[in-house]
Amino acid sequence: MLGHYTNYIKSTCTKLFLTVLDVLTPNSCPACHQFIRHPKIFCASCMNNIQPIAPTILELFPGIYIPVHAVTYQENLTVRSLVQAQKYSNFARVQLARLMWSATLLPYLPCDYVVPLNTYSSPRLTISYKIAQLLASYKKVPFVSSGIQLSGINNKPLYENKHIILVSDTMVEQTLLCKLVSELIQYVPASITIVVAYS
Ligand SMILES: [Zn+2]
Repeated sequence: MLGHYTNYIKSTCTKLFLTVLDVLTPNSCPACHQFIRHPKIFCASCMNNIQPIAPTILELFPGIYIPVHAVTYQENLTVRSLVQAQKYSNFARVQLARLMWSATLLPYLPCDYVVPLNTYSSPRLTISYKIAQLLASYKKVPFVSSGIQLSGINNKPLYENKHIILVSDTMVEQTLLCKLVSELIQYVPASITIVVAYS
């Protein structure tokens, strides 16, 4: 009985908080700019433009298979608008992380560490870090902030037989990906998986 009332109070407080947020900081759909209620990411019609896609498997090196989970393809203008917006807005970045969390299999993937995918690409480093930080917090696992931290033989026990998820807003070039993955596979992880907004 007490639990029922606690849940009721919690949900009422959340609704009240979101209504106040709607008034103080109106939320707009990043694709068509019409007003939407918090905590929605897109309006209903733009949301319909995002159809789930199946994960793909990359064979970067012989026998090394890397699954890639993406929200959608690069051509999707709705998701592109959010990826563009999050370059300048922390709020949009949180929305993008929420989209990646809700529109991929990330909540169900085995994971011990979340690592930013753009580790070696400085212009996109900050964005990649922030997305990785957010997703690590949703996943309740440690966030490994850079490739430098992955280097060194002392890290081997830390990553050996562990599930590593590489995340970013966009897929990186194949050469960059090979560099990062070849570093990671030295530590013999249990798995390496990529999660991106679009591939
Ligand atoms: Zn819209």
